[in-house]
Amino acid sequence: MSDPLRLAPPWRGRAGLRSQPVLLNRTPARRPVLRSRRPAHARLWLAACFVHGVSAPSLHDRALGAYLGFAIGDALGATVEFMTAAEITVAHKVHRNITGGGWLRLKPGQVTDDTQMSLALGDALLAARGWDLRMTADAFVGWMRSRPPDIGNTCRRGIRRYMLDGTLSAPPAEDSAGNGAAMRNLPVVLATFNDTGTLARCSVEQAHLTHNHPLSDAATLTLSRLTQLLLLGGTISDCRRCVGELLAQHPKFRFEPWPGNTSGYIVDTVQTVLHSFFRNDCVEGCIVDVVNRGGDADTAGALVGQLAGACYGVADIPSRWLKQLDPRIVERVRRQTDSLLALPRPLPIREPTPIAPPLPAAA
Ligand SMILES: [Mg+2]
Repeated sequence: MSDPLRLAPPWRGRAGLRSQPVLLNRTPARRPVLRSRRPAHARLWLAACFVHGVSAPSLHDRALGAYLGFAIGDALGATVEFMTAAEITVAHKVHRNITGGGWLRLKPGQVTDDTQMSLALGDALLAARGWDLRMTADAFVGWMRSRPPDIGNTCRRGIRRYMLDGTLSAPPAEDSAGNGAAMRNLPVVLATFNDTGTLARCSVEQAHLTHNHPLSDAATLTLSRLTQLLLLGGTISDCRRCVGELLAQHPKFRFEPWPGNTSGYIVDTVQTVLHSFFRNDCVEGCIVDVVNRGGDADTAGALVGQLAGACYGVADIPSRWLKQLDPRIVERVRRQTDSLLALPRPLPIREPTPIAPPLPAAA
């Protein structure tokens, strides 16, 4: 039976690109595995660390790797967002350098809404010295008012709703199963890296500011939990178990074999990200593999960069990408990573203040 979500895909629309004809990549799932450039001895060393349960990179190395990997995946993927895999092959052979361009006509090294919303969320966490949902919503308002180059329809709708009525949760909606909530949650993971309960609460609350859908919730929680596991030195086997829990609850997310879809639909994105993460063994391999599948390449690239960076650490990120990424973004990511990891534990949580009712009109 046809999936009703597939027949009505408003989350695939982006500002100014409602009629883009190439949002879906339905080419077959067979793609060659991009070989790791990690030397064989380094692969063996890392494998030995996993086998013996030793966390090779430090927590800070993994956290910084996750955040920089995320921003790099965003910047690299933006060039080929909305293209098909075949179109990317014709244009770039293999797209592996941050060059800007794409439908947003970015400058080399620029990032998109994925990284910008994450940085806004991170700023709110740091300003509050803990969790304050209203400050997070205000940070998203400030970001939208900065006239970003792109913003997803569901994010725009949710932020506008908050601006109009001050409510902190979007109503449940069938068209809210887009990528917008899962793509910006990394700062919450860094702020709650040792506290699974607080991670879950804050993740769902920030997600519901704009996206209120069970599949979006499941994806946001699973990707965040995977990142948390990896930050704490978890193994690939630990990640497989965590993903198994997701698949038991939501079989739609099955990703082996890869169904071949890349879009703004969160199921397509999670399938693409997990498929690539589990079959590559380095940051570069994961990100290059994902962005060359096209579709919502910046978001999928960012999310796989988040997982791979947390798994292999910042030292595994190719130096050319660190040079190509906007240095202002690199600096903000570095500072946020340090500050988010240094927040008080347990993370203080401020319950949202009620909004005063509107004043009656003057007589
Ligand atoms: Mg984006």
